[in-house]
This record gives sequence, structure tokens and C-alpha cells, in this order.
Amino acid sequence: MAHMSTRTREKRTYCGICEAVCGLIATVDEMETEVSVRPDNDHPLSAGFACAKGMAYPDARNDPDRVTRPLKRQPDGSFAEVDWEQALDEIASRLKDVIDRYGSESVGLNGGNPIGSNYGLFLSLFGMAAALGTKHFYIAASSRRQQLLGRRGAAVRPRTRELVSGPRPH
Ligand code: SF4
Repeated sequence: MAHMSTRTREKRTYCGICEAVCGLIATVDEMETEVSVRPDNDHPLSAGFACAKGMAYPDARNDPDRVTRPLKRQPDGSFAEVDWEQALDEIASRLKDVIDRYGSESVGLNGGNPIGSNYGLFLSLFGMAAALGTKHFYIAASSRRQQLLGRRGAAVRPRTRELVSGPRPH
């Protein structure tokens, strides 16, 4: 693969934004940060196709406004950065309050398309759904999936719970 210069190089990769996983050629700098991407003409599936979202990926990744730390809304409407420990503690506390008041079925999880190419994240959501005690776990194809599964979709909850923590004691 051709090198662009002594400071950048090209590497073969793919777009993980959706399940099409189009093949890309990325130009990266010394820090392995994508400077630009272009479709990979030699990819066996996408064969040189990539949509506007995939092509805009370096702009989104390198945008100075990209959120990479927890932000908490302040009384005046602005946002202030907080550390992960505080953010997770406060989210957990508020979730617990919602569950205490309205039950575990009052909360749900939604996984966007990119988790489809991240097995660790995808599987961790099953654990989180089991820990929360909810069967409401949605993905981009949920409505179609529910049509296909029908009532069997309701059987997911006990199985995911047992996968993570074992059967419930009786
Ligand atoms: S380039 Fe577009 S169609 Fe291809 S994986 Fe990325 S988002 Fe999906």
C-alpha cells in the first residue's frame, strides 16, 4: 500500500458506523489518527462504495466539539465537565430512583448501529439489561425483529439474566 509521506501513511480499515462495514483506506498521522478516508476499491463486499457518513468520519472524530468526557447540565443551562466516577454515580442514583418508583420495566436500553461491530459492548448490554431487570433492549432493527420474533421476544429476559448471574433463587 502506498505511503502518502514520511508523516502519514495509509492503512486498510472499515467503517463501523453501520452493519454494511464498508471497506476504507484511511490516511493516518503519526498518532494513528485518521486524517482522511476513501473507499477501498479492492474490498470484496463494498467494492469501492462508502456513503457520506463514512466519508465524514474523520471530521466527526476530530471535531473540537466532540464529547469525550461526561458533561453535566448546570442550573443556568450550560454544561460542566465532571469525572467518570461522579457521572456514573449520579446516573446510577437517578436510575435507581426511577426503578424504585416505577419498576424495572420502566427503563430500557437502546443500542445504535455501531455496537454491531463491537462484540464486547454488544454483549455488555445484555448484562446491563439483566442487572436492571428489564426486557426492554432495543436495536436499530427492533421493530422488524419483534415482527419476526412475535411473542418469543419476551423470552429473552430470563435467559439473559441467567447468562450473567445464574438462575434466580426460588
Ligand atoms: S460508509 Fe456508510 S454505508 Fe458504509 S458502513 Fe459506513 S455508514 Fe454504513
